[in-house]
Amino acid sequence: MKYVFDFSEGNKEQIALLGGKGANLAEMTKLNLPVPTGFTITTEACLTYLEGQEQLSSEIKIEIQQHIEAMEQRAGKKFGDQLDPLLVSVRSGSKFSMPGMMDTILNLGLNDATVVGLAEKTKNGRFAYDCYRRLLQMFGDVVCGIDKNRFEQQLEFYKSKKNYQLDTEMLEEDWQELVSIYKDIFIEVMQKPFPQDPLDQLYLSVEAVFRSWNNRRAITYRKLHDIPHSLGTAVNIQEMVFGNFGTESGTGVAFTRNPATGEKGIFGEFLINAQGEDVVAGIRTPEPISELAKSMPEVYEEFLKYSDILEKHYKDMQDIEFTIENKKLYILQTRNGKRTAKSTFKICIQLVEEGVITEKEAIHRITPTMITQLLHPVFEPEALEKATIFGKGLPASPGAASGHIYFTAETAKQASDAGEKVILIRQETSPEDIEGMVVSEAIITSRGGMTSHAAVVARGMGVCCVAGCEEVQVDEFLEQAVCNGVTLKKGDEVSVDGTAGKIYLGRIPYVQGDEWALLEKIIGWAKKEMPLGIRANAETPEDIETALKLGADGIGLARTEHMFFGEKRIFEMRKMILSENKKSLIEPLNRLKEYQKDDFKKMFTILEGKPCTIRLLDPPLHEFLPQSEEDISVLATATNRTVTQIKHRIEELHELNPMLGHRGCRLAITTPEIYEMQVAAIIETAIELMQQNTQEKIVPEIMIPLIGSHQEMSWLRARLEKVIQEIFVSKETIITYKLGTMLEIPRACLTAEKITEYADFFSFGTNDLTQLTYGFSRDDSGKFISEYLDRKILPDDPFQHIDEEGVGELMKIAVEKIRGKDRTLKIGVCGEVGGDPQSIHFLNKIGVDYVSCSPYRIPSAILTIAQEKK
Ligand code: ADP
Ligand code: MG
Ligand code: MG
Repeated sequence: MKYVFDFSEGNKEQIALLGGKGANLAEMTKLNLPVPTGFTITTEACLTYLEGQEQLSSEIKIEIQQHIEAMEQRAGKKFGDQLDPLLVSVRSGSKFSMPGMMDTILNLGLNDATVVGLAEKTKNGRFAYDCYRRLLQMFGDVVCGIDKNRFEQQLEFYKSKKNYQLDTEMLEEDWQELVSIYKDIFIEVMQKPFPQDPLDQLYLSVEAVFRSWNNRRAITYRKLHDIPHSLGTAVNIQEMVFGNFGTESGTGVAFTRNPATGEKGIFGEFLINAQGEDVVAGIRTPEPISELAKSMPEVYEEFLKYSDILEKHYKDMQDIEFTIENKKLYILQTRNGKRTAKSTFKICIQLVEEGVITEKEAIHRITPTMITQLLHPVFEPEALEKATIFGKGLPASPGAASGHIYFTAETAKQASDAGEKVILIRQETSPEDIEGMVVSEAIITSRGGMTSHAAVVARGMGVCCVAGCEEVQVDEFLEQAVCNGVTLKKGDEVSVDGTAGKIYLGRIPYVQGDEWALLEKIIGWAKKEMPLGIRANAETPEDIETALKLGADGIGLARTEHMFFGEKRIFEMRKMILSENKKSLIEPLNRLKEYQKDDFKKMFTILEGKPCTIRLLDPPLHEFLPQSEEDISVLATATNRTVTQIKHRIEELHELNPMLGHRGCRLAITTPEIYEMQVAAIIETAIELMQQNTQEKIVPEIMIPLIGSHQEMSWLRARLEKVIQEIFVSKETIITYKLGTMLEIPRACLTAEKITEYADFFSFGTNDLTQLTYGFSRDDSGKFISEYLDRKILPDDPFQHIDEEGVGELMKIAVEKIRGKDRTLKIGVCGEVGGDPQSIHFLNKIGVDYVSCSPYRIPSAILTIAQEKK
């Protein structure tokens, strides 16, 4: 087995073996970009190490040595050489980029002897000892687990003793002294000195990176992003180039387009005379990259050239890390840049317009979650105008949120566990804070730039973030933040506008973000690729309008019961329910019919002939009954009865298991008048609209809920068709209509071929079907399902994601039985899982015709469906 690959041996496809960073370093080497030479130790080596005795095998060590030798040849320097030492970086990199999760060690190969050589060779002692102290600190942290702050504190202490503000004021002697202080920390903590042998340093570092795959932060991050724990990380060993060499050196990070807005053009930050993580760690606030154009124009031009090459080559926005050593530019990393949902849309659209990618490729780059994020909230403009600003910073991640501030990840987590909406505010964040960031509505930092840890992580999570609020003094110890004389304490409420980079006092109401223009374009492209239809579950005019705007083909489920909850209607409904004989039913039913006709008129008008499935009354009657004494007495008066009589009737209607009781078609069989009224309202409205020529053609789809046997269906069908025929006669018109049913009772699925004889279409009601298949009550199962999930007894909540094995099997059987009888009948899905991206794949596979879901889930469902097309 080969465990080590030279950069010249790999390519960008090998991310599983070489990790993202390694594969891209190899690819850039192939493209002849200025990449410092190096090699990659594979993820397989990592897995071997983690499975074994946690020691690098001699086999791997030998391979590493051979590659070091080859590197020495190319660099013309030797590892551990006392006159001109080769120094390397040790960089982790797994298949998926995990920002700040794994650790990097720079300047490896320095020791008490080689540092002297480096100082002499470069004639830059200050630089050499700066490198050495960095190595001590990084090695101490990553390999030996010595708290970074121990080193930082010594540096701060030293600087204040010398009255220095910036690291750049430190002189050679200062760094020398700090090196000896740092070495003492090693002895104090580890009871042994910092290892002087460069090869030992290297092996220990590689092992530490491998081990870091299993540190808590890494595991949390992987869980959060659904990254398998079994991948392992690769390690890259690369010759060092130095951004901390002096004022003509520096290091930076840049995106080829703006990761927050998607705007085209280089967007980035850099620091003069700095190394490695200085930029992303948020310790010093970096300068915008446009400054580089002024200070080193040739280098900037060269950078533009490479970023263009990289973007075209990868066909995507790149996030590039670079270092300048004495005006010579090196590219140290490229990857597809993380970005906000909004900029993903913008960039995809730009790339399609620039001819770099196709519409279809664009669709595959967008995820359902991004669509959700695109509809980010924004503060209500009027409320915002009146709000008092607390402080300003960088608009690091868009969105709007209010919450109570907490100064540590721990306290934020506690408050959030206790049900509070929290906002994490810190000087800067680091990977240790991840658990606090995950639970926060927004993140605020006083230091760091647009590419700081807080900014990158917040954008990745779609959480709003204001970073680098330099004017705010954040004191994590006292747990307070001060700005312009205003002091905020732990628990105080603020509102954060991540799009504008502003923090306001108190809570500001917000409204959903509006990015229709971007969404429309992508939805338009996706709709050309739909192997499945998409409809909406909606009945109010507003919801139907939203659904159509968001791309629905029509309505898959209009729930008529929702129409009876208005004040006047519920009153008629109650009168109807309480009627003791068929005769007293008539009057309230007639009134309800007028209401219903009005409802259907609105629906059909908005829909303009698009398909519309209307479900007849479904819930148990007692849901409509009055609860309060007041409502009961009002009803008593109106129906000429006593309160006791009403209460008695309510008592009579009480059921032990209402969801399994007298509802849906069962109610219609005992009281067919209700469905007859509804069907008459539907058909009459359709005919009237067509006769008035306001609508060309309406084909109502009338759906009967809760059918379990074909006898129920045939009985009801006969009754309802009689009503319809009578209307045709009286209106002297015949229209096309469909009478179908829901498939939500397991028995209906198992006997679907018989029901087919009496149904013109079907729609799976997966909520009830899941409830009845599992025997889990929809309304109460939350209590135990979470424990089932914890114990891995259930892989998923079956009400969220289709249970393929059980419920799915019933659906499959039903589809086969229906198709066996009649291939033309439409079969839809209108339960919750119809809008669930994870379930759509399965639903497409079993061959349904369309899915139907709530309006705001439509865009992500459309995207998922389009991605299903092979
Ligand atoms: P991360 O995965 O956290 O981005 P990297 O491996 O990219 O970690 O290392 C962090 C930074 O260290 C890089 O952005 C770069 O500035 C610096 N670095 C890494 N390797 C080298 C090198 N060979 N020469 C100079 N700087 C390096
Ligand atoms: Mg890092
Ligand atoms: Mg990097």
